[in-house]
Amino acid sequence: TIGMLALDTSGNLSGACTTSGAAFKLPGRVGDSPIIGAGLYVDNEVGAATATGMGELMMKTVGCHLVVELMRQGASPQEACQKAVERIATRLDNFAEFQVGFLALNKAGEYGAYCIQPGFNYAVKDSRGEQLIDGKNLLG
Ligand code: ASP
Repeated sequence: TIGMLALDTSGNLSGACTTSGAAFKLPGRVGDSPIIGAGLYVDNEVGAATATGMGELMMKTVGCHLVVELMRQGASPQEACQKAVERIATRLDNFAEFQVGFLALNKAGEYGAYCIQPGFNYAVKDSRGEQLIDGKNLLG
C-alpha cells in the first residue's frame, strides 16, 4: 500500500492510499485500502491516518478510524499508531507473522508511525525539508 497524508498551508488535512492488495488473494477480495476507516481515515478536526499490511486486520478493527479517535482523545500521532498496532497484536497468537502498520498526522503537523515488523520506512516533507524515517515497530 502507498498511503499519503497532507496538511496544507490553510491547515486542512487530506489523505489518499492505493494498493495492489494481498499476494495470492482470492478473486474479488477487497482489501482495507478502499474502505474508509480501515485503510484510510481523515477527520479535518483532528487528524488523518493510513495503513499498510494485512488488510483484514485493519478492517476488523476499523484501524485508521481507531488511530484518529485516539488522537481525538489526546494521543500524539506516534502514540495513536502504537496503541492501534498493540490492540491488533494482542488479539493474535502469531502477531509476528503479520505486518500491520499505521501512519498518522494531526492538525498541528505532528506525525508518527508504528508497525509490527521492522522495515516500515516513511517519508516526510515539511518546512524543514525532506527526510526518510525508519518507523518504530513492535518487534524492535
Ligand atoms: N493493505 C493491503 C491489503 O490488505 C496490502 C498492503 O498493504 O500491501 O490489501
